[in-house]
Amino acid sequence: MDSLLRFTAVLNQADRLRKTLLAWYDESGRDLPWRQTQDPYAIWVSEIMLQQTQVRTVLPYYRRWLAALPTIQALAGAASETVLKLWEGLGYYTRARNLHRAAQKIVEAHSGIFPKTFDSAIALPGIGRSTAGAILSSAYGQPHAILDTNVRRVLSRVIALETTGNAAEKHLWEVSEALLDRESPFAFNQALMDLGATVCLPRNPQCLLCPWQPFCLGQQQPDRFPVRPPKRKRPQKQAVGFFVQSENGFLLVKRPEKGLLGGLWEFPTIEGAEDWRIVFGSDPICVGTVEHAYTHFEIAVAIYWVKIDGKVEPQKLLDLWADQKIVWEPTENWSNYALTGVAHKMWRKFKNFRP
Ligand code: SF4
Repeated sequence: MDSLLRFTAVLNQADRLRKTLLAWYDESGRDLPWRQTQDPYAIWVSEIMLQQTQVRTVLPYYRRWLAALPTIQALAGAASETVLKLWEGLGYYTRARNLHRAAQKIVEAHSGIFPKTFDSAIALPGIGRSTAGAILSSAYGQPHAILDTNVRRVLSRVIALETTGNAAEKHLWEVSEALLDRESPFAFNQALMDLGATVCLPRNPQCLLCPWQPFCLGQQQPDRFPVRPPKRKRPQKQAVGFFVQSENGFLLVKRPEKGLLGGLWEFPTIEGAEDWRIVFGSDPICVGTVEHAYTHFEIAVAIYWVKIDGKVEPQKLLDLWADQKIVWEPTENWSNYALTGVAHKMWRKFKNFRP
């Protein structure tokens, strides 16, 4: 059966698909805090946090965030340090920066009220088609479809979609739009998300428990869907990171505001081939290595401990990070800074290090 026929076969049963999914959601839907509110701000925060992150991880962050920044106005007026600190550990920090910028834009251009039109919502930083659909359907009951990672997986399996890339994306949006229950868009979208998160799992989907099992064309081989293009290996990078210790504490460096992990703090790190040993004059103490995977590359950081004790010229050292903000802080103050994931890994290594 080609994809058009599959699509038609499923859509011919759209009413039954909607009914069975909503009945299942009534029984088995998850009780989540952002489903108990119609505050678009709270829903928006949850949607952004849930991108790339599981519910279990998001819950404490969500509560902490709303306690500290309960309104769009509070977020718009917050310092970027505060925003990053509240996000620390969730990863993909662009999400936090976009939330912050979008809140400022809402205050400036929409009187502090989350926009009610799709075009205005999607024009905000960090809000794509699926996120806009999820927020507007949840907060305002508007009939907009969604297509997040979970929904993409469920729909790919239901129609046994063989294509990849833009063609697949277009097709899946059409399916999501066509299946959407326009009377109950909020419940339908949330049900679809829950089906992906609790039944139609990436590995070992629970087809026998699935309300869409009678209709699903991919259930014989669910692991085949969504079909993925061949994986490219991520480039590997090497870096050297330092715990530079003086009588005032350890050196922390703030990353430039723009770019990867912008505005977060880290231990001074050098990537590439600089001959860092010249700077330190004597061999620093080797602590070990940590590895970290980002979306587009992987990095291995060799860690050294450098004590400023007369053998090292601090100025030469500081010249390396002359364009960045630095502080010297004792360990007990580090919790005041939003640190990168690599910095946390380095610190764990350093804590357990016995020279
Ligand atoms: S039947 Fe299986 S593969 Fe199909 S939607 Fe349900 S859980 Fe997913």
